[in-house]
Amino acid sequence: MNRIAILQGDITKQDVDAIVNAANSSLLGGGGVDGAIHRAGGSQILEECGQIRNKQGGCKTGEAVITSGGRLKAKYVIHTVGPVWNGGNKDEEQLLANAYWNSLQLAVANNIDTIAFPNISTGIYGFPKGRAAEIAIDTVHRFLQQNESIKEVIFCCFDEENTTLYKKLLK
Ligand code: ADP
Repeated sequence: MNRIAILQGDITKQDVDAIVNAANSSLLGGGGVDGAIHRAGGSQILEECGQIRNKQGGCKTGEAVITSGGRLKAKYVIHTVGPVWNGGNKDEEQLLANAYWNSLQLAVANNIDTIAFPNISTGIYGFPKGRAAEIAIDTVHRFLQQNESIKEVIFCCFDEENTTLYKKLLK
């Protein structure tokens, strides 16, 4: 589908309406892509995360919340919480699909046309990369089939392994 693109690089540098953060449920920031986004975007993002925390006590696994992009090129950051891989019998696959799906729904609700995703859960959270890539692509594909407003979804891969996996699956 030509509304899906793959690139390898740093998601904080992407010139899109929104980038997605692989956050944790505290919304207080962390390592990996979460740390990179807060470092590059500045304190405004963490401040808004704090306000969301005060209102709703963080973000559950598979759900998503939105803040501004602070100093990033992206106008928004959509923070979603992927599942921690726990062997595969803890509903991880469905929860990962929910993270992509709910991020896209929030994007549509905020008139976002272009959005970049990192490879959610495949870092510290340990989700097997091949299966995660299949779920990510399948979920985005299904969403785009029933939605016309999103113009482009970019899978922003960081490591070679994920880039190769995505390229193979999207062929
Ligand atoms: P999780 O806790 O969901 O596993 P991580 O941040 O540990 O989140 O990893 C998610 C993915 O983000 C990994 O594939 C990791 O390589 C990637 N990543 C780390 N830093 C960046 C970055 N600056 N831009 C894009 N992807 C990144």
